[in-house]
Amino acid sequence: MEEIADEHVAVVIRGDATAPSIVEQADLERADAIVALTDEPGASLAICREAKRIAPGIRTLARTGTGTENEYGEIADATILPQELNANTAADILSGDEVRTIIGSHHDLEILEVKLADGCLSRTRAREGLKCLKHLLIGMEKTGAVAADSSIEYDQIDISVLVIGAGAAGARSAITLAEQGIDDVLVLGKRGHGDAHTTWARGGINGALGTHDPEDNWAVHAADTLNEGHFLNDPEKVETVAKQMPDRLRELDEWGMEYSRTDDGEIDQRFFGAQSFRRTAFAGDHTGESMLNTLVDRAQELEIPYRENVMITKLLSDGEQVYGAVGFDMDSGRFVLFNTGSIVLAAGGYAAIYNRHTSRDDENNGDGPALAYDAGASLMDMEFVQFHPTGMAVDDTDPEWEPWSGRLVTEAVRGEGGRLYNSEGERFMERYSPDQMELDARDVVARAIAQEITEGRGTDNGGVYLDISHRDAEFIQERLPRMYERFDDLGVDMATEPVEVAPTSHYGMGGVAVDEYGETDVEGLFAIGETMAGVHGANRLGGNSLAETVAFGAVTGDRLADRVDGPGEVPADLVDELAEPHFTTLNAMASREGTYDVMEIVTELQELMWDHAGILRDESTLQAGLKRLSELREQTADMDVGSITSDSFEFAVDIGFMLTAAEAVLRGAAERDESRGAHYRTDFPETDPEWQRNILFEDSDIGGMRTDTAPVGTPSDAVQAALDEGHELDYHQLE
Ligand SMILES: Cc1cc2nc3c(=O)[nH]c(=O)nc-3n(C[C@H](O)[C@H](O)[C@H](O)COP(=O)(O)OP(=O)(O)OC[C@H]3O[C@@H](n4cnc5c(N)ncnc54)[C@H](O)[C@@H]3O)c2cc1C
Repeated sequence: MEEIADEHVAVVIRGDATAPSIVEQADLERADAIVALTDEPGASLAICREAKRIAPGIRTLARTGTGTENEYGEIADATILPQELNANTAADILSGDEVRTIIGSHHDLEILEVKLADGCLSRTRAREGLKCLKHLLIGMEKTGAVAADSSIEYDQIDISVLVIGAGAAGARSAITLAEQGIDDVLVLGKRGHGDAHTTWARGGINGALGTHDPEDNWAVHAADTLNEGHFLNDPEKVETVAKQMPDRLRELDEWGMEYSRTDDGEIDQRFFGAQSFRRTAFAGDHTGESMLNTLVDRAQELEIPYRENVMITKLLSDGEQVYGAVGFDMDSGRFVLFNTGSIVLAAGGYAAIYNRHTSRDDENNGDGPALAYDAGASLMDMEFVQFHPTGMAVDDTDPEWEPWSGRLVTEAVRGEGGRLYNSEGERFMERYSPDQMELDARDVVARAIAQEITEGRGTDNGGVYLDISHRDAEFIQERLPRMYERFDDLGVDMATEPVEVAPTSHYGMGGVAVDEYGETDVEGLFAIGETMAGVHGANRLGGNSLAETVAFGAVTGDRLADRVDGPGEVPADLVDELAEPHFTTLNAMASREGTYDVMEIVTELQELMWDHAGILRDESTLQAGLKRLSELREQTADMDVGSITSDSFEFAVDIGFMLTAAEAVLRGAAERDESRGAHYRTDFPETDPEWQRNILFEDSDIGGMRTDTAPVGTPSDAVQAALDEGHELDYHQLE
């Protein structure tokens, strides 16, 4: 390793509130200056204090924010930089001081390098420089890690393709790979085999089979999807899903899926909200479970290797290309490094960052989007969160009912004729949507219910009534068996009385930005299923998410099968700079005896999101939410975390993912000053045609999350023709 000059070294740190622990490890005696460019101004202050304690002569530059001028004043000669501080401003200040060596994380490092070109080290040399500073490495800056402990042991697994996530999307992509002869594939999940969130999907999966309505076809399916997505969807991806689905549904049938059938033995299809025809195939009201069982059976037939209970905590990437992933075995606590040049990220969505949600509590915390974002991929459309109209509204003080709060009452209840009433017995959808009634789009029904409740026509438990008792008991038990059973266990007979419902967070339409094959802008990194963005736009049609999992699972599998040529090798410096320091960080976190309880932070974050980025949003509430989030982020540096195999450790890791997803939702919602689909701004209630653009979220490393916008593509002629035909569901067909 080349030695770097002893003088004029600036350490540029971007990280979270745990960054002071980096400072402790750095050889600051050799640094002229420390620039604390964290997202969290309070953390910047802490970094400066720590740096001064270790090296009193060091020059400190910090961004102001939650720290007051007085607090910064405690630090002798601190340069207080404006809130807008970015790498440029820092470079200007430092160049005046002839600082020559810059050590920082990759994107903004370039800006600094250009600005300080004279005598500045290259990016690679900067990495070497980092090593000089006692392994103060690039990856650690972003995660707030401590210096790498090279004695940490881990298992290394070399594999051609790593599929992270074993729900429908991950399983389906691995099946295509195996069918095409790529047997060097490993699928992993953070739960047991067959136990993924997909099992909770209830009402059905869309595909234009035309069982009952022969006039249905893929182009009308695509048109309905674009209409529902308020034309923010990527038309190409929508078309891919709509075209693929009839085949994907039939192939599931061949593999043994237990579809509900018509009297003629055909795959039955039911009405689902805002779809022009009966297009939703189903297996009672346990479609996801039946589908995943089928996919798992097929994967086992093909002998696809699966590893249970492994949690991935970081992808190994230089921002341009992916080289592998690291995580830990949740049973043994042992660290694992997967060496691979091809990763399919199918790790679910982010709807559980809200306190009322339909997801399992330990899933959909944003792992997928946050892992990709951290690796250098862009996120898209994160502000669009679908609030399902019918989550269970319960008496939260009753221990029997409380665990069911927010849980899904499937759309199939309305699809089979369920009606909504307010506490005054009025079928209020007649006022909001006289044609489509209860089967209007989810955003419309959710807002209608929210309005009824806000205006005092809700039930005592803060909901409205959903009633399907006009159907006979046999019909309900056959078409909605799990719903019937659940309420029956709680002492409510759906065949004779209504149930109480209120909106609940259900699905994040946003996710990772990908191309037509599911590949991100980081080479070798693919994202599919609920982790990806683009198919649903501003709002999702019920039944389209399961469709997306298998459609893109197959597309991505095909694409990768053509490209894979062995595992490749993780470059040594990435092991040194990213993997080992990251393991050290995890170790440090596991033994941390901090002030804040992990689960309390999770709850606070979820409440924050409900309060500040819920169904109805406005500028001041969103900005206040960002501020609260920033304060909460600071507390994460001081959490009381259990051992690596404990639940609290898993949630402590998840909090990092949740913070990324939450920040993107808040930032996107604040930037999008219009209302569209699931995003409703009370201060901008109209849809603005100028906003037919996607918001992209990128990690600018120094300076934090950066947003950009991009225009949406145009539909193909076939889909445009279907749009022009103006198909629409008429609810009254059901009555
Ligand atoms: C209650 C409910 C009902 C629904 N009903 C329907 C419906 O009727 N129709 C429909 O189309 N959609 C429905 N949806 C949506 C649909 O279920 C999901 O979008 C879909 O199942 C997502 O599948 P997936 O494969 O992308 O992810 P998931 O099934 O969520 O699988 C994610 C996988 O990633 C793994 N994982 C996550 N993080 C990590 C990590 N850090 N390390 C390692 N592994 C990780 C998990 O263990 C899991 O194996 C419903 C959703 C809910 C919540």
